[in-house]
Amino acid sequence: MTDLRSDTLTRPTAAMRAVIAAAEVGDEQRGEDPTVNLLLERVRALLGKEAALFLPGGTMCNNLAIAAHTRPGDAILAHRSAHILRSESAGAARLAQVQTEALDGAHGRFTARQVEDAVTAGSRYEPATRLLCVEQTHNFGGGAVWPLAELGEVCTAAHAHGLAVHMDGARLLNAAVATGVPAHDFAAHVDSVWICFTKGLGAPIGAVLAGTEEFIARARRLKHAFGGALRQAGIAAAGCLYALDHNVRRLADDHALARRLAEGLRPIEAVRLHTPRPDTNMVFFDVDGWNHAALLDVLATYKVKLGAVGPHLRAVTHLDVTADDIDRALEAIVLTLETPRRSSSPGRP
Ligand SMILES: *Cc1c(COP(=O)(O)O)cnc(C)c1O
Repeated sequence: MTDLRSDTLTRPTAAMRAVIAAAEVGDEQRGEDPTVNLLLERVRALLGKEAALFLPGGTMCNNLAIAAHTRPGDAILAHRSAHILRSESAGAARLAQVQTEALDGAHGRFTARQVEDAVTAGSRYEPATRLLCVEQTHNFGGGAVWPLAELGEVCTAAHAHGLAVHMDGARLLNAAVATGVPAHDFAAHVDSVWICFTKGLGAPIGAVLAGTEEFIARARRLKHAFGGALRQAGIAAAGCLYALDHNVRRLADDHALARRLAEGLRPIEAVRLHTPRPDTNMVFFDVDGWNHAALLDVLATYKVKLGAVGPHLRAVTHLDVTADDIDRALEAIVLTLETPRRSSSPGRP
């Protein structure tokens, strides 16, 4: 099976499992897990922040950060297709009790001017805008990298209006590897940032949120309140440390395979790529004349799985995908699209 649905599908390797099995552990809730503490120090330094916090997953990083930066009734800004808005079960509304103002723009990006225009000071009628959220890379924007200079401009505009800036850095290390810009240079523009270990990095559990001492202290209290405090979490943190040591530089391989897939798809007449050359490990596209759900069903009969994001198709490369897998996926797509469909074919739009 070639499974391109998501980079969350990677399984821990035997080597990673061995490190996990041997992990030294303690009570994370008391700050006594040595493996968690080692991971926090590594990530804190990697991101150039004062302090860091270990969390079960990325959604909790976003929800804690939003709650820590705001008060109920405030407003936050995020791109319309941000993970925070599209894929977190309205966590910002439920848990932080904030109103989210959506910004538009290609590839998950927007301009400093859009931020300035969207900020509200707060009055008897309107909420005060307290926080800007940016996503690096932007998942539903096509795994797109936010270039450092543009990112700096929007963050400067937000700070000038008294907003804090939070970065959903689920795939920040993909951006760093793709551009050669160190993660801490991107992170320097924002007040809080987190990275995910269960996407391209291939660990089974864990994300780390970073920011100032004061911010992390607030986030730690919220973590406890939200039920995210852990016990012998070194079991999970050991996989994350292994991932930092072994799986960061190889993200470049995932990016190369995504480009290989895009290059193979480009000549196919019915295929419309969202970006001719993907920035990182995702290829978004549409296929004319096909109902996408039906297309996915036919591809599954060739043992190829793609994902769907809203009305679009998404293929994501990761640790468990090889060049052969990409070529098999391309072959299956070509065969499917070239095979004449009977009138009863399930592939009809
Ligand atoms: C996966 C993802 C998240 C959420 O992380 P989980 O660990 O699944 O909760 C947040 N933001 C982006 C951009 C993601 O891709």
